[in-house]
Amino acid sequence: MTVAVIRAEGPQDVRRAVELLGGMGRFVSPGEKVLVKPNICAAKASETGAVTDPELVAEVCRLAAAQGAEVAVGESPIHPFRSSRVFPRAGYGDFRERYGFPLLDLDAAERVEIRIPGGVAVKEEVVAKPVLECDALINMPVMKTHLQTVVSLGLKNLKGVVPTRDKLIIHLRGLDQGIVDLNTVIRSRLIVVDGLVGMEGALGPTNGRPVRLGVIVAGDNVVEVDAACARIMGADPREIAHIRLAAERGLGRLQGFEVLGDGIEAVRREFELPARPDLNRMMISGFLLRMYDLLRRPLDRITGRAPSFRFGEVRLDAGKCDGCRICVKACPVEAVSMRGELPEIDAATCIACFCCAEACPQGALSRA
Ligand code: SF4
Ligand code: SF4
Repeated sequence: MTVAVIRAEGPQDVRRAVELLGGMGRFVSPGEKVLVKPNICAAKASETGAVTDPELVAEVCRLAAAQGAEVAVGESPIHPFRSSRVFPRAGYGDFRERYGFPLLDLDAAERVEIRIPGGVAVKEEVVAKPVLECDALINMPVMKTHLQTVVSLGLKNLKGVVPTRDKLIIHLRGLDQGIVDLNTVIRSRLIVVDGLVGMEGALGPTNGRPVRLGVIVAGDNVVEVDAACARIMGADPREIAHIRLAAERGLGRLQGFEVLGDGIEAVRREFELPARPDLNRMMISGFLLRMYDLLRRPLDRITGRAPSFRFGEVRLDAGKCDGCRICVKACPVEAVSMRGELPEIDAATCIACFCCAEACPQGALSRA
């Protein structure tokens, strides 16, 4: 199995990456139904590094359509975001009109409960029907960091085939193994990673800093593509739990695969990576938060800056929070409640999944 790593000036260069792998004809046959699964997790433009560049997605759709395939794009954003709001703000609002390929809202699609034979964390899962009906899935993640799983690449991108709130179940049962479980039954025939603009830092995958990398990585094995991307980002794939576990369960190799094109070292750029959470660190800030909430305006005037509060593994930057309540809906274990205008997290209930931080539109929540 082979990974192509190329320096890219723009989305059109994906053709070179796919050619290095033997051309799209290797992956897609005439008459097949192809579903392209980008990462459109949040209402952010691709220039932020949070979502896959729509031009890159369109370019891959064109390549597949040129083989005589029936091509559609599909995604379910982070819960509780609505696709109707996310898609336009991520540059996908007029995708069909602009490029001629339908964009399916997987949250609105029929849902099918599937069994995962040999599942370690997740033994059954709800999946959007178009994912199960396609002949070939083309997986198109962004090269970015993730505050719980360290990186979010091809393996992690498949969480978006699970609609709406059902995604949260994977967090409850064990995210790293759950990601691998999903990848044992939903297989990516081709993976194309958008490294044109990636994202780094502890606030990935939605609120980190953009990295203008100018790289496209493609391959036919999701573990090998993820391992190559991790190395490009300056990480050791053996230390990234879901990538290592996927390799241990026989889904691909962490090293020893062929790399074509410009190669990993030529494009390598150390990303600022989040540290793994330390689940033993617990400290409740509820009382301080409530006091601050009562006194916030006079306090802000005196100190000139709003304080931050630590709830176990989660930190709230009170100055950034606008009280939107999205974190309350995003939490799979109902650990978040509003105290006045600010959220409070029950650290004893919190499972440190960081769904709240991932969903926070203001970047007000982070790892403590
Ligand atoms: S922390 Fe973020 S998601 Fe939660 S209420 Fe504040 S701004 Fe909204
Ligand atoms: S409060 Fe804890 S359990 Fe709830 S979403 Fe945030 S990190 Fe996850």
